[in-house]
Amino acid sequence: MSDSFAKQYDVIVCGGGPAGVGAAYSAASAGARTLLLEAGGRLGGMAVQAMVGPFMGGVQSRVVDTVMAAIGGRTIDFCQLDLQLYDLLTGVGAQVLLHAPVVAPVMEGRRLCGVDIMTKMGKRRFTAALFVDATGDGNLAYMAGVPFEMGRSSDGLMQPASIMFTIRGIDPQRRFLCGSEEEARRRMVNGRSWEEWVTDAQRKGELPATVGVVRLYATRYADENGVNATQINGVNGLDPVDLTRAEVEGRRQAVQIVAFLRRSLPGYENAALAMMPALVGIRETRRFRGMARLEKEDCLRGAGFADAVVFAASFAIDIHNPAGSGQAAGLNEFVQGEAERCKPYEIPYGCLVPEGVEGLLLAGRCISASHEAHASLRVMCISMAIGAAAGAAAAWAAKHGVSTRDVPVAELQPQLRPQ
Ligand SMILES: Cc1cc2nc3c(=O)[nH]c(=O)nc-3n(C[C@H](O)[C@H](O)[C@H](O)COP(=O)(O)OP(=O)(O)OC[C@H]3O[C@@H](n4cnc5c(N)ncnc54)[C@H](O)[C@@H]3O)c2cc1C
Repeated sequence: MSDSFAKQYDVIVCGGGPAGVGAAYSAASAGARTLLLEAGGRLGGMAVQAMVGPFMGGVQSRVVDTVMAAIGGRTIDFCQLDLQLYDLLTGVGAQVLLHAPVVAPVMEGRRLCGVDIMTKMGKRRFTAALFVDATGDGNLAYMAGVPFEMGRSSDGLMQPASIMFTIRGIDPQRRFLCGSEEEARRRMVNGRSWEEWVTDAQRKGELPATVGVVRLYATRYADENGVNATQINGVNGLDPVDLTRAEVEGRRQAVQIVAFLRRSLPGYENAALAMMPALVGIRETRRFRGMARLEKEDCLRGAGFADAVVFAASFAIDIHNPAGSGQAAGLNEFVQGEAERCKPYEIPYGCLVPEGVEGLLLAGRCISASHEAHASLRVMCISMAIGAAAGAAAAWAAKHGVSTRDVPVAELQPQLRPQ
């Protein structure tokens, strides 16, 4: 392998999704020699691999503000996001290695001190003072032996998988937008609510039973929609057998949904599939045990913490029903059938510090949180702010040669928030 990459770094970030980008940007900006290892060929994580967007979630984060300004706002340009992120990271001195799946940790006792990647030229090893696991599923933390939980406490079921896609050929004057269940109930099409159109098609067998809401998002083009509607339940996002089923079933659902839109929506007679993602979107897998755990009540009441590293995080408890269509009624007991609203909450540093393993911080959707709290923090702006906090803490620990457990969080807080 070319020797433009060193073997030893201050901070190595595994995973180049929103959290990994936040972590690498933050660590490199703090002066740490930083390497980001990404398994795939593009930066952006779910945003490019699964065409997930727009960037959602309120949060007060200097790094998120910087990234959003650099990429031109929260509506994603799916063809360019990865390039924009690459330029941003290399611009602050981070090195980025694509096609670099981390396949094994190198442990000295309970301390993580290196990782192996698998390349077409064989295995390569990198060492670092600190590592950030931003792989979404927490693959590095898992291999290093950090304990974790999956699914809701009642039955272990996780949120459904979805194939997101875009459609083109819409009459721009009649483009229809619907972002949520609540909007689907409100928005009328030829005298009936959009929800009724969808449930009627479900009843007739024209749409799959799990497709209870067809969300149509704005993209950067007037004749285009992003479509968030397919839903494949009972998928363990770590199991290749389940993932194969989800890929195939989700893509078949997408074809059915386009046919339904052509039949039902004025201005959509010529709509056609434009882009399909490379990967099925996985909302939820491992949540690791950390020094602290974010709970649903923390999100609902807008909890604050002395060791907060993410500020004014704001998004609903967005649980797509693991056992049916729409939102998970019953879990969202305050507003039946709809996502419960949170008050802007903070995330404590302890949620990023894994139990039992040194030299590692967690970032993004795999941090220590309950099933319900995860359903709020998993959106991309909040995941990125978590990454930014992990990157800053990792850089500090590397610079001062201390354990992640001894990082003086109060010293980092001012640099994480916008001025
Ligand atoms: C269908 C769907 C719709 C969604 N809609 C929205 C939305 O509209 N807005 C929003 O803000 N959020 C949305 N989300 C949530 C959001 O996309 C994710 O929760 C978020 O991307 C999590 O960020 P992350 O960085 O933790 O993980 P990811 O985005 O999953 O990034 C992880 C990265 O790590 C890499 N990786 C994995 N394993 C390894 C390894 N071993 N070595 C190296 N690299 C590795 C992956 O290739 C990937 O690039 C949606 C999610 C889904 C599934």
